Amino acid sequence: KSKEMGKNHIEFFNQQMQKDFKERMLLNSGLRQALQEKHFEMVYQPKINNITGEVSGFEALMRWNHPKLGNISPAKFIPLAEELGLIFQLDEWGLKEACRQNKEWQAAGVDSIPVSVNLSAKHFYYDHIVPMVTKALDESGLDPKYLKLEITESVFMKNVQAVITKIEQLKEIGVLISIDDFGIGYSSLNHLIHLPINEVKLDKNFISEINMDQKKAAIFKAIVELAKNMKLNVVAEGVETEGEMHFLKLEKCDEIQGYYYSKPLSKESFLEFIKRKNEGSK
Ligand code: C2E
Ligand code: MG
Ligand code: MG
Ligand code: MG
Repeated sequence: KSKEMGKNHIEFFNQQMQKDFKERMLLNSGLRQALQEKHFEMVYQPKINNITGEVSGFEALMRWNHPKLGNISPAKFIPLAEELGLIFQLDEWGLKEACRQNKEWQAAGVDSIPVSVNLSAKHFYYDHIVPMVTKALDESGLDPKYLKLEITESVFMKNVQAVITKIEQLKEIGVLISIDDFGIGYSSLNHLIHLPINEVKLDKNFISEINMDQKKAAIFKAIVELAKNMKLNVVAEGVETEGEMHFLKLEKCDEIQGYYYSKPLSKESFLEFIKRKNEGSK
């Protein structure tokens, strides 16, 4: 009997593995094709200034609409693109598109605010990163101070000195640097002081229920104090509740991003949002 159960298990695994494998094959070939045919889209999530209530920036997030599989989350296709070496082209496209869009809105009379663009850590281990950013700025005509690059702490896991040099070169161009998904590993607070950055962006896992968790609250206060001393902008991501928002306001978090204010929006909806929001807060 147990032998039979074992067999069923193996059958089950085989089926599951085959399904995963098929999906990966679909994604794999789909990703190359989608890149050529530009099946990607950027959506934009507002960042709200915690004092004025105005839209103070926005994050560009990539979407892939697959003809068979529907909308695929970047949490799924970004790691795959990294594995396949397609991330360089993909991020370059996203970066250009986000710069172009921000410049277009500025030209249309929207208040000038920075666009935050996520870049895979992979870029920081090669020399193309600085020319890639320069090119996106030149082609769009966007002033560098309206471009913020979001990178995760994992970028510092290897080649620290080379990575820091690249970040310094980018800052010399005039773009801003943000550390994304911060606060999951508290130890990282110590090396923060050595990094040439402009912003820390606290991860949504850390922000979640921060108003009800004394330990999180204490860490948050320590981060804000350090960040303020270093003149860093502090952003909370994934803010969903009024309770979280009130806590963050009280603790002088500079900017808030999350479903509480808005989900990521299509470019049309974003324009409506920013007009409505900024009118309301004047
Ligand atoms: P991230 O940069 O940390 O972006 C925040 C993620 O949280 C986004 O997911 C956003 O839609 C989601 N989010 C925002 N507010 C809330 C909230 O209140 N509640 C909840 N539950 N979620 C919220 P998304 O768009 O699925 O992106 C996932 C990740 O994929 C991003 O995390 C980023 O690491 C990566 N990514 C997205 N676009 C790009 C890109 O163009 N290039 C690269 N390299 N990575 C990207
Ligand atoms: Mg981000
Ligand atoms: Mg993040
Ligand atoms: Mg995150």
